[in-house]
Amino acid sequence: MKYVIIGNGAAGIHAAEAIRESDSEGSITMIGDETINPYCRPMISLLLEGAIQPDKLPIRGSDFYDNLKIRPVLGKRVSGIDVDNKIVFIQNGERNLRSVLAHLLDKLMSVTGVKPDPVKAGNSETAFTYDKLLIATGADPRPVKVGGQDLENIFYMRTETHVREISEAVPNVRNALVLGGGPVGFKAAYGLMQCNINVTIIEREDRLFPLRADETASGMILEEVSAHDLKVKLGTEVTSFEGTRKVESARLSDGTEIPCDMAVICIGVLPALSFVPRDKIQVDLGILINPQMETTAPGIFAAGDVAEMTDIARKTPWVNAIWPEATAQGRIAGTNMAGRRSVEYKGSLGRNTIHIFGLDLMTGGLINPPSDDPQYEILSHSDPRLKTYRKLVFREDKLVGMIMVNSVEQGGVLLSLIQSETPFRVPKELLLEPSFNYGQLLT
Ligand SMILES: Cc1cc2nc3c(=O)[nH]c(=O)nc-3n(C[C@H](O)[C@H](O)[C@H](O)COP(=O)(O)OP(=O)(O)OC[C@H]3O[C@@H](n4cnc5c(N)ncnc54)[C@H](O)[C@@H]3O)c2cc1C
Repeated sequence: MKYVIIGNGAAGIHAAEAIRESDSEGSITMIGDETINPYCRPMISLLLEGAIQPDKLPIRGSDFYDNLKIRPVLGKRVSGIDVDNKIVFIQNGERNLRSVLAHLLDKLMSVTGVKPDPVKAGNSETAFTYDKLLIATGADPRPVKVGGQDLENIFYMRTETHVREISEAVPNVRNALVLGGGPVGFKAAYGLMQCNINVTIIEREDRLFPLRADETASGMILEEVSAHDLKVKLGTEVTSFEGTRKVESARLSDGTEIPCDMAVICIGVLPALSFVPRDKIQVDLGILINPQMETTAPGIFAAGDVAEMTDIARKTPWVNAIWPEATAQGRIAGTNMAGRRSVEYKGSLGRNTIHIFGLDLMTGGLINPPSDDPQYEILSHSDPRLKTYRKLVFREDKLVGMIMVNSVEQGGVLLSLIQSETPFRVPKELLLEPSFNYGQLLT
């Protein structure tokens, strides 16, 4: 069996390990455009703030590929897939004579019973045949498309390379803008502040963490960051960057101009699937997958930030671009690709835990349900004196969402109740109590 995995991030790595647990013989080729050892992407902001050294970032050692008999093809970007003939092309490797010949040779070898090897072409290799393919390419930063976007000192923050570039520029920076007031934007802003840079977050919506919090929690976050000198401009966005070589200022849609000598763009991500043939593999926002992580094309699987599947809380297809989803989905995909047994994933679930200066925020599931839908019931409790807030969202007798600010006790239990879709036969108000004994639910 020939496995090809595109992407050596969390989903790809966990898939490769799951494949090897079931199939010790098949060939595994991993193609990834980053060249460093597999690493923990959520921790790159800790590099920026100086809380860790680069050696703390990898999630697997340099012997990972050898130990699992994986053939790494790193520093290469996949540019296309021939679904009918089961070939993956890397950049500059579109259907050229070499790859077609290699494919024919490969087919011939399998017909004659000789175990086919990956298409071999050394460094100039352009095509890889597969029996089972995993697309685990994660996400690309959502780009800004405004005048001056190519000026120096304007960065994204998705990869270890991005953070290295930001860190190199930091010594000459005094005022930075961070575009985007979500968790990644906050992490970038916090990291820059630790480098003694004045930071202003520009958020297009009228509140911080618009996708991960509700109005109350967003208000508490705004209060907390403002108390720590992190400036925020809400309800406005950058319309152009100005400068000669480097960025010097940004014009905003509210008519103001803010001086800055760096900008970091954190306005969300988009599944990295530009190479995916949409006539063969169904795509919505992400690549649509079933509970076995299969796409609509036979033998092709997808997992992680690039994939879209039923969200447990929403009951609709959704891309939950978070680390625990990527690892879990990768494992399921790998197990099913190896084919010894079939496992199903119940569905994905959005969740986030973050420390914002002195404030703890934990969210999960559907936190802002449609206000006019009678299926939903919201219970909440806040204590302005203790600065705590707990909100639970129920759909009929099941918990489907939660927000907790500075009162995250039992948060893990509540998340698992959302995931397991446990029906409640006790008064729902009890769940608002941080000290509620969840064992009572099982009686
Ligand atoms: C700053 C930051 C903070 C974050 N914080 C959190 C957090 O606190 N909690 C949390 O749960 N999640 C967090 N995340 C999100 C988390 O990192 C992702 O959900 C996770 O890394 C997704 O894993 P993945 O394997 O799907 O994709 P990735 O980790 O993106 O791996 C995909 C790999 O494929 C490569 N690739 C893409 N296209 C191609 C191609 N055409 N050819 C070859 N290779 C390609 C990419 O370069 C990448 O190396 C954070 C992300 C960032 C950037």
